This record gives sequence, C-alpha cells and structure tokens, in this order.
Amino acid sequence: MYCDQPEHEMENSVDYDPAGMPKTAHMQQAQFRFYAELNDLLSLRNRQRTLVYIFGVPSSLKDVIEAFGVPHTEVGFILANGEPAAFSRLLRDGDSISVYPVFRSLDITPLALLQPQPEGEKRFVLDTHLGKLAAHLRMLGFDSLYRNDNPDEELVQISATEQRILLSKDRGLLRRSIVTCGYLVRAAQPREQLVEVCRRFDLNGSIAPFRRCIKCNTLLQVVPKDLISDRLQPETRKHYDEFRFCPGCNRPYWKGSHYRRMAGLIERMIKPLKTASPDDNKSLSTAA
Ligand SMILES: [Zn+2]
Repeated sequence: MYCDQPEHEMENSVDYDPAGMPKTAHMQQAQFRFYAELNDLLSLRNRQRTLVYIFGVPSSLKDVIEAFGVPHTEVGFILANGEPAAFSRLLRDGDSISVYPVFRSLDITPLALLQPQPEGEKRFVLDTHLGKLAAHLRMLGFDSLYRNDNPDEELVQISATEQRILLSKDRGLLRRSIVTCGYLVRAAQPREQLVEVCRRFDLNGSIAPFRRCIKCNTLLQVVPKDLISDRLQPETRKHYDEFRFCPGCNRPYWKGSHYRRMAGLIERMIKPLKTASPDDNKSLSTAA
C-alpha cells in the first residue's frame, strides 16, 4: 500500500488519492469517510472528506482505520457498503466504508455497536499522563486507578482483566487489540478532560463526591471521632465531630476549609455538565 508522510504528530496517518498515482492491476481501492468528532483524530487534510485508500493485500478494517490515526476504541460502529461491519472484516476492492464515533444517544441496534457497553459502575484506569484527571475523577467518586509509573503493558492488562475503561493520551496504547474499552482524552487541561470523560461515559447522574480517597482511590469509611482523635491536630479535634477515614492510606477527612474549597472546585468542575453538550443531539443524519 502507499503511504504518505504523516502531516503532523499523527503516526501512520495515511491519505490515499489516486490522482497522479497509477493504480496497477493488482492494486485495489476502497473509500473511507469518518464522521463527527472522529475527524479531530485525522490529519488536517483528511478531515471532512471522502478518502480513497489504495491497497494490495487486504487488511482488517481495524488496521486500516487505525492507520488513519483513529484508535478502535473511538469507533462506535462501521458501515461497509451500508451494512454494519466488525473490526475484523477484511477490506475488499470497491468497498465504501463509513466510520462513526460512539454516540451517547443513538437509536441503533446493539448488534451493530462495536464498543462494549460497560454495565454497572463505570471504572477507570488512567495512563501516566493523566494524574490530575485521576484525582478529579476520584473527587467525584469514580473508581480510578492511577500510578505515575504504570508501564503500558500493565495498563492494558488491568483494563482487560478488571474491565476498566482505559483513559489515555496515547493513541498507540489504545490501538492494542486487548483494549476493548478505552478513550483517547483530547483536552490538555484536567478540568476540561474531566468534562470530556463525564460526557463520553454519561457520568453526570453518578457523581458522588467525597466518598473516595483522592490520594489512593480507596472508598472512605465513616469513623467515630474517638477512633482517630490521636491523628488530629488539636484545633481540628476541637471544632469537628464528623470524620471519614481512608483504610488504604490512613488519611482522615473532615469538613474543614479544604472540604469547602473542594466543594467549590467540584461545583465549578461539573458546571459545564449541566449545560447541553454540542454533541447531545448528534445523530446519523446530522453527522453526515
Ligand atoms: Zn487513601
């Protein structure tokens, strides 16, 4: 297959255009169109247009889509010549492939959806670039594993074995086949990242602040004051009666000034979630 140089940071970004490129007898051709926010992941010149892909040996749809820079975890469903298709389907000569992101509110048969729908509480594991996002998610009560030295191999294993959603800034990590549920975090600022993740995974209704340790992710326990009074500063002991305690790192929590600051921060962080996202009303018809 022919391969252009990546336009910017995207690895293996490809743009195939038959114009001026002789199509030899053994070469085959397919058309790709990426919809909605998937365009953000394409190189600039590939956005919002039909792309012609010329190939010799057929690859799976997963491999070709990822060669365009779009990790499979970002793809909600694929239509091949108008029919739902799996990642494993091999590309054929003359194919017309439409690639759609994960829409949160879309009336589509579950059989066509390529991303598993995590049941029950959504749990996360975050790559080493996302420490602040992990703290923010814990602040809102979400189970979020994070270590600043977690090797990539361990992250993908944890995601697979514990069925945790892998949040990453590294699209190479999300290309791994073992990762069945992941998300490429776009924003650079932790607060914007939080809003992005809450919207993508529809977390707004599950926010439960102050129930998880921000440092170690353990669920906090309500504890009688006298059990931890030896750990408290005299002023804290004097003015506060309600305490929670982290059994993971032995940290006491109480509703002091840090609590009020954090409550204000949480209020500001989740404010954008109370306004409609521009994506909320996206549908197949508007995406096209
Ligand atoms: Zn802790």
